[in-house]
Amino acid sequence: MSNETGPWALSSELEARKQKHLYRKRRLLQSPQGTQVLLDNKPYLAFCSNDYLGLANHPDVVAAFQRAANECGVGGGASHLVNGHHQQHHALEEELAEFTGRDRVLLFSNGYMANIGAVNALLGKGDLVLEDRLNHASLLDAGLLSGARFQRYQHANPTSLQQYLSKPGYDDKRKLVVTDGVFSMDGDIPPLPELAQSCKEKNAWLMVDDAHGFGTLGENGGGCVEHFNLGQNDVQVLMGTLGKAFGTSGAFVAGSELLIETLIQKARTYIYTTAMPPAIAAATRVSLKLLQKENWRREHLAELIKRFRHGADQLGYELMDSASPIQPLVIGSEEKALKLTAWLENKGVLITAIRPPTVPKGTARLRVTFSADHTLEQVDTLLELLDQARPK
Ligand SMILES: *Cc1c(COP(=O)(O)O)cnc(C)c1O
Repeated sequence: MSNETGPWALSSELEARKQKHLYRKRRLLQSPQGTQVLLDNKPYLAFCSNDYLGLANHPDVVAAFQRAANECGVGGGASHLVNGHHQQHHALEEELAEFTGRDRVLLFSNGYMANIGAVNALLGKGDLVLEDRLNHASLLDAGLLSGARFQRYQHANPTSLQQYLSKPGYDDKRKLVVTDGVFSMDGDIPPLPELAQSCKEKNAWLMVDDAHGFGTLGENGGGCVEHFNLGQNDVQVLMGTLGKAFGTSGAFVAGSELLIETLIQKARTYIYTTAMPPAIAAATRVSLKLLQKENWRREHLAELIKRFRHGADQLGYELMDSASPIQPLVIGSEEKALKLTAWLENKGVLITAIRPPTVPKGTARLRVTFSADHTLEQVDTLLELLDQARPK
């Protein structure tokens, strides 16, 4: 008997995915990240990276990485709590604390681990975790893993949240409300001041994952908390990632002294893992400076977004309520979305289709994203192709 029968019939499971147009494939990137990439030996104009400010391959960031690698080597070598907490990590934490206006910051290896670690250090059995139903997978997983009572509220809806916050039996328990700062597949921003107010009334804490807001939102790129002017008494747990607008790799949690000390003691994804390479921290310190200082990057992004939204709307495409560099075009069925991306790829434009379960059924979409490195002419090229591709 084959060892892939019965409960181990992986091939029929994979075949079923293919039938439903849900099969995922990787392709080979043969160039640095950027607006023009080489993928599987073919050049593309790309609109699907999260490198929103164009820092992933910025010469100053690359040079800082090289310099630091010469000074501190490549590997992190050990956990932060053993002897892996390098002065480059420490300096980045201090600079991020100042940038976010929080007491302290703790670095994690990536955003997924930051979310799992923070939620699980704070909550356990008997507590309550409330999540926006469109939260990023890592936040949903974090809540489920914690063993706390798990409840989703209506997307970006403070009224729905209030109902669940009033759930009896949790008055003296920890209640944590968790939301994306900019929703990763829709690009919209939740009403954080209202959510924070509801939390205060019910003695709950608010955790915001601003993976897509840092660098793109706020006067100085301080993300949704700068945009809404919310301090650490409004958003007690603030999480950001370094692999998107920062253009490097890693993540951080920012908050009070007590929060950070608690995470150092209890966040298992912080304790039981090797520190990120210190040269990554050094490179991120340079990208943080660029992100704060070079306002033109955010201004140019705003222009690109405006031009695209105006053009796509005129062509009759369904846009989402988004002011961020995430500008999805909702197509509907998985099959149609895949057809459109394939057609665009044939014309040299790369935009990945996002399908369930990443987004709700019937809302498969082209997740168009912009980078400060795109030109207005490149947006026009995209619009011209979308014009040709649209059902007439
Ligand atoms: C990308 C992303 C993460 C994960 O961050 P990584 O550093 O890539 O692991 C977490 N939350 C949101 C909202 C994201 O978009």
